[in-house]
Amino acid sequence: MTDQNFADDNPPKLLTTNPFDDDKFHDECGVFGAFNTPEASTHTVLGLHALQHRGQEAAGIVSHHDGQFYSHKSLGQVADNFNTQPVIASLPGSSAIGHVRYSTSGGAGLRNVQPLFADLAGGGFAICHNGNLTNALTLKKHLVEKGAIFQSTSDSEVVIHLIATSTYPTLLDKFIDAMRRVEGAFAFVALSEDCLIGARDPLGVRPLVLGRLPNDAYIFASETCALDIIGAEYIRDVEPGEVVSVTNKGLTSVKPFPVSSPRPCIFEHVYFSRPDSLTNGTSIYKVRKNIGKELAKECTVKADLVVPVPDSGVPAAIGYAQEAGIPFELGIIRNHYVGRTFIEPSDTIRHLGVKLKHNANRGELDGKIVVLVDDSIVRGTTSVKIVDMVRQAGAKEVHMYIASPPTTDPCYYGVDTPNKDKLLAANKTIDEMAEHIGADSLKFISIDGLYRAVGEGGRNNDVPQYCDACFSSEYPTPLTDNNASDDDKQFSLLTDSR
Ligand code: AMP
Repeated sequence: MTDQNFADDNPPKLLTTNPFDDDKFHDECGVFGAFNTPEASTHTVLGLHALQHRGQEAAGIVSHHDGQFYSHKSLGQVADNFNTQPVIASLPGSSAIGHVRYSTSGGAGLRNVQPLFADLAGGGFAICHNGNLTNALTLKKHLVEKGAIFQSTSDSEVVIHLIATSTYPTLLDKFIDAMRRVEGAFAFVALSEDCLIGARDPLGVRPLVLGRLPNDAYIFASETCALDIIGAEYIRDVEPGEVVSVTNKGLTSVKPFPVSSPRPCIFEHVYFSRPDSLTNGTSIYKVRKNIGKELAKECTVKADLVVPVPDSGVPAAIGYAQEAGIPFELGIIRNHYVGRTFIEPSDTIRHLGVKLKHNANRGELDGKIVVLVDDSIVRGTTSVKIVDMVRQAGAKEVHMYIASPPTTDPCYYGVDTPNKDKLLAANKTIDEMAEHIGADSLKFISIDGLYRAVGEGGRNNDVPQYCDACFSSEYPTPLTDNNASDDDKQFSLLTDSR
């Protein structure tokens, strides 16, 4: 295994707070894999570039050529660290996997950057993970007690150890054995000497799609926008609970888990996925416009303008404006050279970030009654700044309409949300929230409205069709680590550093 910049790793810091009180929850990520293409690492760089919105703090690629694995990992964005001929040349071979990652504050050391790699009994094995395992700390405790030595603080490393200690004969079987023992959300892309694997958890919480290039080259990616960038054909979504493996003999699929009703993450539709991606063949952009339309059916106000909070509020605002028959204008302009506000690590930077990112388009707003549309309110930081900015630009009334229900609960499945005490909707009524953000009125789409927008008749409360825990408090898997004893939490406190 050749690792280009292992020595650049940040020295690990000892965890100073209990990870269960962590302000943010672990990773938001994008994964990509290419098999049987002479340009595997170039395709992976491009694919990761298309998935950059899923994680901007670090990226990594592992390629395979002639029995050897090669790696390049870097803190920062793909375009800044992978876009050179020497880097591509250092990743030879016809198969490669890659990962973009956003980690919690301070957790961005190179040792946590994926793909993770290990030399196992069956050969070299590299793995990328999008999602979050909800029993990782519990499994880690058992593994460490049995003598496992962890190299990173990533929950995904647990999977490597489970594979290493599995008694099944082949690497694929060991991998499936490991997946049967983890709980929570995962979309994995893994690479061995002769096989590329794509796998989704039994509920299909996190997305993963399968694509193809000419000459039987296969691609896995978190979203279809990563297929588009390399001109790959979108075949289909990897199904919940499906493990697809690709070798020189072709593609095989197994479903090794007990059958359960799928619960893909509804927040991917609301915010996380790129609007030009498809999920199960459906356009995310169209779904977001539908959300705006449903919102307009549920909540109306006499207004002069509909103004999106760019970029995340744009498709819903278009849908709202079309349905309500109110003119749509870009009353706020975004500076594209600043990253996602929410993704900045500290509160201070986050506050500063909103000012850096948005500016009022005064000429459109002065003297107007404005409906502002955004996708979600988390802490409320963005809304406070934006409402004030629009008022300062002369708006007569500012009504804030949100294209998701109130975010009342943290995500434990790989979307970064703060703890409940920082979630505005968990701590205030809607009227109090309106007052807090300074809006004349504040409306959220109903949960049934959101389900209608994604193409369901409404939410099936007996067997919900999606994971909507951030809006409903109903977590579809056990949260084993959260219920761990204080002793176990103390264990993770001592062993987990960031
Ligand atoms: P806040 O300022 O904390 O209320 O954050 C709300 C804004 O952050 C919204 O405009 C969203 O576009 C964006 N957002 C919501 N959830 C996330 C997330 N998990 N990661 C990054 N950004 C998010």
